Amino acid sequence: YTPLAEIDPEVQNIIDKETWRQYSGLELIASENLTSRATMEANGSILTNKYSEGLPHARYYGGNEYVDELEVLCQKRALQAFHLDPAKWGVNVQPYSGSTANFAALTALLQPQDRLMGLGLPDGGHLTHGYYVRGMSYYFHHSLPELHENFSSPSSIESWSRGAITCRTDGLLRSRLIAWRDLARQPTFAHSRYATAKKKMTASSIYFQSLPYGLDPANQLIDYKGLAAQARLFKPRLLICGASAYPRDWDYAALRAVADEQGAFLMADIAHTSGLIAAGELNNPFEYCDVVTTTTHKTLRGPRAGLIFFRKDSQNAKDLEKRVNEAVFPACQGGPHNNTIAGIATSLLQACQPTWKAYAKQVIANARTLGEELVAKGYKLQTSGTDNHLVLWDLRPLKLTGSKLEKLCDLVGITINKNAVSGDANAQAPGGIRLGTAALTSRNMREEDVKVVAEFLHRAVQIALVLQKEAGTKMLKDFVRVASNQEGSNIGYAQVQDLRKE
Ligand code: PLP
Repeated sequence: YTPLAEIDPEVQNIIDKETWRQYSGLELIASENLTSRATMEANGSILTNKYSEGLPHARYYGGNEYVDELEVLCQKRALQAFHLDPAKWGVNVQPYSGSTANFAALTALLQPQDRLMGLGLPDGGHLTHGYYVRGMSYYFHHSLPELHENFSSPSSIESWSRGAITCRTDGLLRSRLIAWRDLARQPTFAHSRYATAKKKMTASSIYFQSLPYGLDPANQLIDYKGLAAQARLFKPRLLICGASAYPRDWDYAALRAVADEQGAFLMADIAHTSGLIAAGELNNPFEYCDVVTTTTHKTLRGPRAGLIFFRKDSQNAKDLEKRVNEAVFPACQGGPHNNTIAGIATSLLQACQPTWKAYAKQVIANARTLGEELVAKGYKLQTSGTDNHLVLWDLRPLKLTGSKLEKLCDLVGITINKNAVSGDANAQAPGGIRLGTAALTSRNMREEDVKVVAEFLHRAVQIALVLQKEAGTKMLKDFVRVASNQEGSNIGYAQVQDLRKE
């Protein structure tokens, strides 16, 4: 029972510095939040000592009577928080994170090399939704002229089809290739951003065949018509919705119709918005989906982990409960982290309180205000606003990259992250910034506070433009050097110091 500070002052010191960073700075990362002290106590508890492979009352280890009680309580609260009937829905609370929850869900729903469709990463989707890189859109986008000219030659069809998912699995059907060519010509599909990618980077594209759908470039909203057309050709077994950087709500009914047309499963990954959905402030994916996954640490304000909800009465599969539970353990994970499950249970208790709705409403009101303030200052937002907790700020009209503003904000105690915005040519140097209001709202900030934050961000941009000029190059390292050190009569550096003090 010797305290950490005595046993390991080095680690204690790092924790103290991080505590100060979190308390003194402005946390605007859309995927983060400030969890409660109660949740942290549960998360840091003695439950970390216990092994409990299996499910409640069916474990591979002894001594689990209290852990069983805990996991059942957590499951009950998870269903309660999302207003789900336990006769129709079940939940697995063991996933270590959102990524493992998603991989377990794919393992439950698909066979290896089955096809799935998710929102493309550059359009706001997540890595675990099938982010592939050298797929059809890459291939067809680049080979369209040749494809058109040489289509009648079997050998060129052979070479064009290398990497083309449908052709690999279905054989080289000329009619299918023609359909793909026509599809690839659609602007939303044959988008050059996918062409920059070089290889399959994520388990969801290595073990499954994936095709991204995208945004309508005209309004940056999900292109539901385009994705339905893609699904008709690609015939996915699973359609995934949900995103890491999409400021608008989802039309789950439209997605269900597409999934039904293909006999596909529909899965929503509500990692970002689950706290708002639990409060009834956004459309309800549970009405339409077979499986819903979420992280627990974003708008839900819990510890870092994941949940998988499965429909017990899915028309697509009678045994979803067994499939999901077995996919989590033993397929993808070992022993559950019981301390984390305790933290999830405590945070879900908070999400079940009447006060939760007020929190969620305020998160959205703050995001709207932040967006409106930035627009009023002349900035451009993707989709011009937001329905949820985040705004995507397009810096390209300013000729400033997201990386530079992120670095500058780090220097003045504002935490943000660079993010691709629709139409970005280079995913490595994204042209935007993602801002979220969940953490600020956990600190009781309201619209009037957020207006001050917007003013700070505005000043940060102005300073970044000065620094960019003073750096004399476009290189990020030069920008950071000038921002971090006084060089001659560098006025940008002085402005950074001023903003930092404020
Ligand atoms: N799904 C979505 C939509 C996400 O945004 C994220 C993370 O940001 C994840 C899944 C993965 O969560 P984790 O980092 O807990 O693995």
